[in-house]
Amino acid sequence: MDDIVIVGSGHAGFQLASALRQQGRDGRIVLIGDEPHLPYQRPPLSKDYLKGPMLPEDLRFWSEKQFSDKSIERVAGTRVTAIDRRDGAVVLADGSRVGFGHLVLATGTRNRMLSLSGSDLDGILGLRTVDDAAAIRAGLEEAQSVVVIGGGFIGLEIAATVALSGRPVTVVETTGRVMGRAVCEAVSRHHEGVLAALGVAFRFHAGVARCLGDEGRVRAVELAGGDVLAADLVIVGIGVLPNDDLAAAAGLAVDDGVLVDAGLATADPRIFAIGDCARHPSLHATAPVRIESVQNAADQARLVAARLAGKPTEPYGAVPWFWSHQGDLKLQIAGLAHGADETVLRGAPEDGAFSAFRYRAGRLVAVESVGRPADHMVARRLVGGGIALSPAEAADEGFDLKAHAMRPQPA
Ligand code: FAD
Repeated sequence: MDDIVIVGSGHAGFQLASALRQQGRDGRIVLIGDEPHLPYQRPPLSKDYLKGPMLPEDLRFWSEKQFSDKSIERVAGTRVTAIDRRDGAVVLADGSRVGFGHLVLATGTRNRMLSLSGSDLDGILGLRTVDDAAAIRAGLEEAQSVVVIGGGFIGLEIAATVALSGRPVTVVETTGRVMGRAVCEAVSRHHEGVLAALGVAFRFHAGVARCLGDEGRVRAVELAGGDVLAADLVIVGIGVLPNDDLAAAAGLAVDDGVLVDAGLATADPRIFAIGDCARHPSLHATAPVRIESVQNAADQARLVAARLAGKPTEPYGAVPWFWSHQGDLKLQIAGLAHGADETVLRGAPEDGAFSAFRYRAGRLVAVESVGRPADHMVARRLVGGGIALSPAEAADEGFDLKAHAMRPQPA
C-alpha cells in the first residue's frame, strides 16, 4: 500500500493532487484541509474579490465532481493534529487516523496578528482565507475610515482597493518605505507616489501602541508617538508564520519552515513539504529559502508529483516569480533580490513603467518590473538561465533584451 496523504488543501496541496493524476499516478490520494471549502485561489482575495461582486465559487480550482472523477478523496473542515511516523498515519482532530505510504505537508502559513491593548476589538481583521475576505468585504460596506497596518504586498493591495472605493485609508508602516523587504527603493517610492495620488495616506517609521474602541468595536489606532488615527476597520498585514508545528512535533527539522532537501523531502524519505511552509535549498539564493508565492507552490507540487509518480526529476530549481496588483499598478518580480548590492533602472518611473535590475556581486539575481510584462518574461529567462547581462546593457533601452536572452549561451 502506498497511499498518498496531503495535509493542506491550498494552492500546493491542490496542485499536487491534480498533478499526481496528470502524471499517471494511480492509487489512493487523500487531500485533507482544515478549511471547509473546495480548494480555491488566494491571490484574488486582496484584489478583485474585495471589490465584489465575485463569489467564492468563482475562486474554486475544481468542482466536487472533478475531484470525484479523478478519485481524489477530500477531507474538508478537518485539522490534522499529529503525524504518527512509526505507524505511517496522520491523526485527525476527531481522533480518527488516515494511513499513508507517502505524506506531503502543504500546510502554508498563518497570519501574524497584533498582540497589544485593544487588538481583540471587533473590526480588526487579517486576510488569509475566503472567510477573512468576506468579513473584510462586509466591513468595507460600513466603514468610514480604514487603517492598514503593514505596507507589504497584501496591505497595499487592500489599501488601493479601499482608496478606489472613495474611503479614507492610512497605511502604517514600521520601516521607511513600502514592500521594503522585497523590492528596491525606486519601486517602493513609485508605488508610494501612485497610491498617494489615489488617496492612500502613509505613516512611516510608525508603530502601533494600542487600538481604541467602544462597545467592543475598534474606533481608532494610537501610534507609538501618540497620534491617533480614526478607524472603524483595521486590516493587519504584518506578515505570516509557517505552519511547521506538525512537522516539529513529529521530530522533523524545522527552522522558520519545514526543512527539506533539493528534492523537497524531509529527513524522513516518506515525508515531503511543499509551498509556503517549506524551506528549501535554492540555486537562486545563498541560503535555504521559504518562498510565499503561487509559482513556488505550483512548481514544488509538480516536482513532488513527478517523484511520487516514479518519473525522473531534477533538483528543485524553478526561477521564483511573483506578482502584485495595487489599483492599476502591476508589479512583477522574477528572481530573489536577497543580498543585492547594485540596482539599475530600465525606463523611467516618471513614465509609469520601468524595471529595476538587481545584482549581487555582479550577477543578475532579480528583476522588478512595473507595468512592463515583456521585461518580466525576459527576466525569468535571464535569471533562470543564469544569463550574463551587464548593468549597462540592462539600463540601455536600445539593447535588445529579448534577443540577448534567446541567443545560445556558451556552455
Ligand atoms: P496555502 O494556500 O495557505 O494552503 C495551506 C492550507 O493548509 C490552508 O488551507 C491551511 O488552512 C491548511 N492547513 C494548515 N495546517 C493544517 C492542518 N494541520 N490540517 C489541515 N489543514 C491545514 N502569491 C502570488 O504569487 N501572487 C499574489 O498576488 C498573491 N496574492 C495573495 C493574496 C492573499 C490575500 C494571500 C493570502 C496570499 C497571496 N499570495 C500571492 C500567496 C499565495 O496565495 C501563497 O503563496 C499560496 O497560497 C501558497 O500555497 P500553500 O498551499 O503553500 O499554502
